[in-house]
Amino acid sequence: MKLALEKFEYIIKKSRRTTISVQITPDQKLLVKAPAYTSIKEVEEFLREKRDWIIKQINRTKVTSQQAAQMGILSDKEIRKLKRDAKKIIPERVEYYAKLSGITYNRIFIRLQKSRWGSCSIEGNLNFNALLALMPLEVLDSVVVHELCHRRHMDHSKAFYDEVLKIFPDYKKWDKWLKQNGAAYQLRVGE
Ligand SMILES: [Zn+2]
Repeated sequence: MKLALEKFEYIIKKSRRTTISVQITPDQKLLVKAPAYTSIKEVEEFLREKRDWIIKQINRTKVTSQQAAQMGILSDKEIRKLKRDAKKIIPERVEYYAKLSGITYNRIFIRLQKSRWGSCSIEGNLNFNALLALMPLEVLDSVVVHELCHRRHMDHSKAFYDEVLKIFPDYKKWDKWLKQNGAAYQLRVGE
């Protein structure tokens, strides 16, 4: 069902769930998921309560697509260069922080991905997104240190973050940068 509240267009999807939720679709519409018995009045009340959050999310989606449009979709040539650069720089940074912290690792895999920035397997293999090579070096370093520290703590506990901050004190600043700007870089990878 397609409806509108103020200037927002929204779609309701009813199901067997027991709570109402709302999410922003990539084309900046609201998708409301609600229990089968919910009335339109209840949905609109819920959306009014969530108004500030919704506006913030929509603005964020807009900023992300503007940023991506400014930077442009990566051409095949740019992607080949990016992969070459990433395969050189990322292992260098891993090596540097591994020596600094005394943490060991197994193999490094670098891929161009639209989802994750990095991961660490139980075998000690480290995976990184090649897109990191386009960002400020501190952002790459923050992801490298994060994944290396998973060799000591396979969770996101306080002990894990203490370790991260010991090795890379500016971690929070650059992690925030990645959360704010990362999505735009992922949009630069075409279909
Ligand atoms: Zn993690």
